[in-house]
Amino acid sequence: MTSPNITQLAKDWSIEEAEKLYGVSRWGGGYFCVGDNGNLHITPDTSNPDVHIDFKTVLAEIQQAGVQFPVVVRFHDILRAQVVRLNTAFADAISECGYQGEYRGVYPIKVNQMREVVEEIVHAGKPFKYGLEAGSKAELLAALAMNTNEDSLTVLNGYKDEEFMRLALLGRKLGNRMLVVVEKYSELLLLVKIAKELNIEPMIGVRAKITAKGKGKWESSGGDRAKFGLTIAEIINTARYLKSEGMEHCLKLLHFHIGSQLTDIRSVKDAINEGAMIYAELHKMGFPLEYVDVGGGLGIDYDGSASTNDSSRNYSMQEYVSNIVNGMKEVCDLEQVPHPNLVSESGRAITAHHSCVVTQIVGEIRSNMTGVDTAANEGEHIIVSNMRDISAGFDQIENKQQAYNDASLYKEQAMEAFKLRVLSLEELAKTETLYWQIMEQLQAHYADEEYVPDEIQNMAFSLSSQYLCNFSIFQSAADTWAIDQLLPVVPLTRMNERPQVNCSLADITCDSDGKIDQFPIAREISNILPLHKLNAGEPYFIGLFLTGAYQDVMGDMHNLFGRLNEVHIFSDDDDPEDFYIEEVVNGSSVKDVLSIMQYNPQAMASDVKRMIDKQVAAGKIKPREGVRWTDFYEACINGYTYLKTSENKAAE
Ligand SMILES: *Cc1c(COP(=O)(O)O)cnc(C)c1O
Repeated sequence: MTSPNITQLAKDWSIEEAEKLYGVSRWGGGYFCVGDNGNLHITPDTSNPDVHIDFKTVLAEIQQAGVQFPVVVRFHDILRAQVVRLNTAFADAISECGYQGEYRGVYPIKVNQMREVVEEIVHAGKPFKYGLEAGSKAELLAALAMNTNEDSLTVLNGYKDEEFMRLALLGRKLGNRMLVVVEKYSELLLLVKIAKELNIEPMIGVRAKITAKGKGKWESSGGDRAKFGLTIAEIINTARYLKSEGMEHCLKLLHFHIGSQLTDIRSVKDAINEGAMIYAELHKMGFPLEYVDVGGGLGIDYDGSASTNDSSRNYSMQEYVSNIVNGMKEVCDLEQVPHPNLVSESGRAITAHHSCVVTQIVGEIRSNMTGVDTAANEGEHIIVSNMRDISAGFDQIENKQQAYNDASLYKEQAMEAFKLRVLSLEELAKTETLYWQIMEQLQAHYADEEYVPDEIQNMAFSLSSQYLCNFSIFQSAADTWAIDQLLPVVPLTRMNERPQVNCSLADITCDSDGKIDQFPIAREISNILPLHKLNAGEPYFIGLFLTGAYQDVMGDMHNLFGRLNEVHIFSDDDDPEDFYIEEVVNGSSVKDVLSIMQYNPQAMASDVKRMIDKQVAAGKIKPREGVRWTDFYEACINGYTYLKTSENKAAE
């Protein structure tokens, strides 16, 4: 991993340089850019560039509304725009190549189940007959109530029980196109039994275990050992069984899904080819399925590299779509079967861009931040003076790598000597202070060199600061911890200033895993994020972007940090700032998270009150003070789980 040093950044700073460094337009999907004033700007409707939102004004309104940070900011227009983009891409590809079927996409609820998100998607998808996908009973209950688009599909994946089947059949009764996708053979028998019992005609799909594998983190979703799906033999048995029950006309859909975040377009092509062949053969066997569902997998370019990196993809949405449409057409034409209607289940691509997490930097941690006076003392230990000699004579030292080696050796020796009580604590502190001075001298020296030895490169990371962020990665960026997912992180302001600090990020949980030290920076994956110096009295906010898919809803309550406050932004051309806050959704209070863990916050408050009263009775606390403490405890229990910063207090 490389460590770009802030000294390697262009001396002549500009917003173009900021764009190069943070890559905003590479991952921004056309929605985000570095504005002329150095703030992050949002164009929520790319077809209407007149609507232009400055993130700084969004921050100001959030503060004015008295909403505490950290905050999830949702741009509903982006959500709508992505629904339109995907559906338009399919419509264009279909008309371009003369494809005979239609596109009937569904949004997989699991990617972001928030009601407001699902509602917005359903609404934006209405003109396209866009539907929903559910993978559990709870999601099915939501889909039943939420999918109000006429003629759209509801695709039901995942393992199912009898209740699940009944709910799906209720959907049929209500006139919905509920497609039950059979994941394992026993589900088929259950579905047929209940459908006959209730005398409701089901719409049935089969999920195929196909051999084409996706590349990337989710490649085990496909292939022979996949958790879901039927083998070819089981699919044939399914079709024959339905025929024997007089229900072959109920078999409507062939489904496959080879994994999320497919990084290589090759795997998409392979899967389509294989799926199309299965469809064609089933058709020839006398089972004319109406739909082929290609699952999810449309990737997001988190690191902006447009490559087969795990957090990227080497294709565009349009390319993905035209490969599906053309691939299906080619096989069907060759096999002389009709073109099926196409279904896809893109979740990540629909939701990732629309939300971000905004957090404030509340401190800086640096191992070498404060040193001691290093002036020589009479009779000091030779290790200390040796170390000082390197630092003092640094410019004259010919072989700088030697300086590094010697300093590292003396540092180790100093620690050994301290343990043997040969070196005093004060001398140890002096040696360490001098050591870090030398490391900074080395870093400055190598800043302009072509060749930088590995040790020195790695040192940029050791010398870097940890910026302490008021949030929990376990709640707000779970995949950065769980699967090393990269997320773009950028300052929301001051990008017209040259960054002065090499950083990584630490969160406020008491867990040393609570940190982010991989960033997509300057087209590389770096363990250093260059940021700006913290100025006293001027809050510094950063945004974690592309958190709308999975991250929004997968977080946990590690350390009892709860869900974030949410701010929903709608754009409005007539508004002077081009936007308004449509809704604030309060995050978890301390009371909420304690209740989930079986505490009784009310009882806790009265217990503490009783203890305070006892101290008051004993004369150890004044009555007036006792009341204040009681109120304070209650206010905290009703409050937010995150740190309260002075800016928040000012807004109250
Ligand atoms: C998770 C999942 C999806 C969504 O995949 P994305 O890569 O987010 O588009 C679609 N279909 C099925 C069956 C899934 O399990």
